[in-house]
Amino acid sequence: MAPEQTMQEFIQHELTAYIEGTLKQRMESEKDGSLGNVSMTAIQLEALSEVKRQLNGLSTVMNEQKMKPKIISYYRASHEQGAKWSMNFESRGGGPGKKGERAEQKILGAGFTAPGISRHGWGTDFDIESTDNAKFKRGKQGKQYDWLNDNAKHLGFCQPYKGGRMQRVESAGRKAGIGEERWHWSYYPVSQALLDLVTEFPNDVQERLNQLWQTFSDKKGVDMFQHVSTIWQDLHLNVAGNPFLQ
Ligand SMILES: [Zn+2]
Repeated sequence: MAPEQTMQEFIQHELTAYIEGTLKQRMESEKDGSLGNVSMTAIQLEALSEVKRQLNGLSTVMNEQKMKPKIISYYRASHEQGAKWSMNFESRGGGPGKKGERAEQKILGAGFTAPGISRHGWGTDFDIESTDNAKFKRGKQGKQYDWLNDNAKHLGFCQPYKGGRMQRVESAGRKAGIGEERWHWSYYPVSQALLDLVTEFPNDVQERLNQLWQTFSDKKGVDMFQHVSTIWQDLHLNVAGNPFLQ
């Protein structure tokens, strides 16, 4: 990802390249998977064209308010996420059995998630400015955060990891979740539709995840997803509720 891109530069270059290049190629190669009888790539292609339009709107309104947040992270392919997970697993003392489970907990605790269940794999979510919550409490980032917190929902955007992971109203009783991330924003109508597919086809998703995780574990020679495979639904679904109802 190019460093220091404004939202506008990001839309013009990276987001457009992802839609016109990566997704269209994937459609042509017909290697994409499906959920039920729906092609995931076809859904993403339609969905991300909409995300691009809406993000353009958000960027325009923010520019009028003299705010130009930098986009620091966007789409992450599952192979990138998997390679990073594998590196983390090793550096955190991962191995067979309990050792592996402890390493997985440490990786998740550090705010990094497993391949296949990152919202960054959808193309609907992006990070702005800094991955430090404290920075969004004052100064330039504080102003951006306060503005987004008040106004983003009117433009369809939300902060999925808002508030403590165990305090989210709709998440009561969930075993796992991701902590507050003031930098992570999402286009709600599309990301929620993708999340609904997870709820609607949990077995299909589980099967795809198992296949994906198996390829990474085979490469490493050890199961790196014992713990994650028991809590992935909670990790996915433990997000802030509908921003339009807040
Ligand atoms: Zn993020």
